[in-house]
Amino acid sequence: MAVLSSEAVVLRTWPVHEADLIVSFFTRDYGRMRGVAKAALKSRKRFGGALEPMTLTRAWFAERPRQELVRLDQLEILRSPLSAPVDHTRMAVLSFYAELLDEALPERDPQDAVFRLLVSVLEHTRAVEDFPRSQNRDRGHHENGPWMALTYFSLWMTRLMGLLPDIAGCIVCGEALHAAEISFSSYTDGLVCALHANGSASALAADSWQLAQRMLRAPASSFAAEPWPRRRGHDLRRFTLQTLERHLERKLRTAEALARLGG
Ligand SMILES: [Zn+2]
Repeated sequence: MAVLSSEAVVLRTWPVHEADLIVSFFTRDYGRMRGVAKAALKSRKRFGGALEPMTLTRAWFAERPRQELVRLDQLEILRSPLSAPVDHTRMAVLSFYAELLDEALPERDPQDAVFRLLVSVLEHTRAVEDFPRSQNRDRGHHENGPWMALTYFSLWMTRLMGLLPDIAGCIVCGEALHAAEISFSSYTDGLVCALHANGSASALAADSWQLAQRMLRAPASSFAAEPWPRRRGHDLRRFTLQTLERHLERKLRTAEALARLGG
């Protein structure tokens, strides 16, 4: 069997048999795959710390005749999430990325735009206390936390999955929306005007709407220097999460954990 190779991000692993692991991983060239890492629990040499979820790797793997799972031969770490400071909040956000991708990505269907999105947000998914506060001020760093990256990832996943109608207009009447008169509901995609907001609708703050429009036009890096307190874009994250969960037809376990951390 020919051995294939691709950049890949590890999504999750679970033990099988004695020392084997099943690994769900998202490759840039072949899409999401599942493979068996033989004796991964015994042979630390071949996989080392590369099986930590959200590790960016170079993966080598091969198809097996009449088998659904590929044979995962080797992972070489390109960037480990553990090379930056870790806290509960950052780990919860990384787990959310992993669960959403594992649930949402079709198997063996390359999704280059999603892969690029993931690599770009991973770089900005920081621990809350990544830099001492005084240093933040001195250097003009405001990015003390994962909130920008989480907001950007959730919004773009909604867009790339085709679940985000044009947010400039009301999805019911098509009229242009006006800041501070915008709502979203848990039953439909998109945003609605004041006239079409029903009883179950939640408001989307003007600031969050404008932020969403900017985020759909610019790379994640261009938001990194802005202040990102936890509350910023909270309603926007809720809007995108509701949309994603409605289409997945299930609640994401990691989203509940994030909600408990105030995400
Ligand atoms: Zn309307």
